[in-house]
Amino acid sequence: MKKTGILLFSALLMLSNCAQPKEEQTMQNYVEEPHSYAEPNKAVITHLDLDINVNFDSKIISGTATYDITNRGASEIVLDSKYLDIKSVEADGKTTSFELGAMDAMLGQPLKINIDKDTKKIVVTYNTTDKTEALQWLNAQQTADKNHPFLFTQGQAILTRTWIPIQDSPQIRITYDATVKVPSELMAVMSAENPKVKTTDGVYHFKMKQPISPYLIALAVGDIEYRSISDRTGVYAEKSMIDKVHNEFSDMEKMVAAAENLYGDYDWDQFDVIVLPPSFPFGGMENPRLTFATPTVIAGDKSLTSLVAHELAHSWSGNLVTNATWNDFWLNEGFTVYFEMRIMEALYGKERANMLALIGRQDLDEELESLKDTPNDTKLKLNLKGRNPDDGMNSIAYDKGYLFLRTLEETVGREKMDAFLKSYFKKNAFSTTNTEDFVSYLNKNLLEKNNVSFNTDEWIYQPGVPDNQAIIKSDAFSTVEETLKTFMDTNAIDVASITDWTPQEWVHFVRNIPEDITIEQMQTLDDIFKFTNTTNSYIAMVWFEKAINHNYHGNNVDSKIEEFLTTVGRRWYVETLFKAYKKSNRVDEALVIYKKARPNYHSVTASTIDDLLGYKE
Ligand SMILES: [Zn+2]
Repeated sequence: MKKTGILLFSALLMLSNCAQPKEEQTMQNYVEEPHSYAEPNKAVITHLDLDINVNFDSKIISGTATYDITNRGASEIVLDSKYLDIKSVEADGKTTSFELGAMDAMLGQPLKINIDKDTKKIVVTYNTTDKTEALQWLNAQQTADKNHPFLFTQGQAILTRTWIPIQDSPQIRITYDATVKVPSELMAVMSAENPKVKTTDGVYHFKMKQPISPYLIALAVGDIEYRSISDRTGVYAEKSMIDKVHNEFSDMEKMVAAAENLYGDYDWDQFDVIVLPPSFPFGGMENPRLTFATPTVIAGDKSLTSLVAHELAHSWSGNLVTNATWNDFWLNEGFTVYFEMRIMEALYGKERANMLALIGRQDLDEELESLKDTPNDTKLKLNLKGRNPDDGMNSIAYDKGYLFLRTLEETVGREKMDAFLKSYFKKNAFSTTNTEDFVSYLNKNLLEKNNVSFNTDEWIYQPGVPDNQAIIKSDAFSTVEETLKTFMDTNAIDVASITDWTPQEWVHFVRNIPEDITIEQMQTLDDIFKFTNTTNSYIAMVWFEKAINHNYHGNNVDSKIEEFLTTVGRRWYVETLFKAYKKSNRVDEALVIYKKARPNYHSVTASTIDDLLGYKE
């Protein structure tokens, strides 16, 4: 956070456990933001009090958003709004005029509200509409229990403005309270202090006392229950899922302890995970205090729980120290992947962490190949002005970001790296930072301090991967590669020697099946290892990709792929499979499946696949 030393920043003053002494708290200067209409250097929101009614019949949320604001003398405050029906606006208790500017397909509309220089509070009365992009309304059939409808939100990157009128820039942090009215048979939970049992009247009150970025405001409503794992961790899920979810995530307290041991206290009091219905578009979303997760990670053997380590790591990188703009997204994700690997190593050992890192390394190679015609998109620091921030949410931010930090660690040594990261999180806690500020902090506090030279600028501001990259090795994966090579050369495979492979080893095996495999060999592998019928969603996804690429149709795999694509809405999975259809010139087949699948997808998944397949409603 940059400081000007002129005025007190009232939002920070409201924090009870503020890290800095009061006299050092100053008015924040906000950087230029390509994805928000807000003008926070003129007037900025500091606290939201949301009072809404969730109506499953009309699929509309309606109510009021009341904001405390800090006005630096402006005559208007500008909020972001997209597909919202704005009914009226008040400023300090009196109706005031407002204007909705021109509609932009990506950014929505600026909501310009007239205020006085002394205005402290504004109230916006509004409805969501059927065009909202953040909300996904599911009917009972789309849930695990199939008894009641379900609703969840997805705010990242710029979708919160489609369910709450707000200054929707990650550099603007607010605290919030909410009162949410839902049908009495359902429970509401948010990225806030949450209920553990249902109320009788369907009214829920929430408080988020730590200031967060608007993309982290989240709501889920469904017939869910809570089960604790420790006094500060637990899970929410539908009744038929709660036992499985509780077993799968039983290491959560150990993960929080391992994370604290690495980079300092967990500052959000509670860490819970809610497992959503399968249409949830991401693996997980790090909503503070309550991670939202896909059910595709419930494998029955804890093999895919690195996802929880990842979302937990965001409690530091992303939620505590937040990218100032989406051009700095790698600061959220690269750091989080690095932290995730360290948590996995602390809990399950170096070999497991290296396997995960190598899978990411292969993802990075595939991403570099797919972006070879747009090399600027392979820089860590992006320029997404005029483009959707989603364009930057790929393996570059995650896996190149990770590789940068791992290479840095191997250069300076782990001890110095850890001390540096711990101080970085502490210094920037509950604030936002951009790439340039990070680089100068790195130079001063790690490199110059230890007299180390490092090609930071090349890593961050140049395309591709520099030559000094860390080389990641896994003995287990070397064995996998040898086994696959022997099979390709001889058609023989020593089944007895691989009965104890982990899902990561199987994923590596399948992903590395070479181009020249024959249909007969695909059939042999499928008959022996039953890939088509695997219950592990990750192995299924990589196998289905190979089946599509190689025109393999054995063991009824086509109907399995269709079932997968019409049930699961996790964008990474479905995008991978639809890309495979496209690459194999099978777009017509893909479109037949997509028409059936699309109603189950959240807007972020649907818009990606619409673009990929050239689909128009
Ligand atoms: Zn992440």
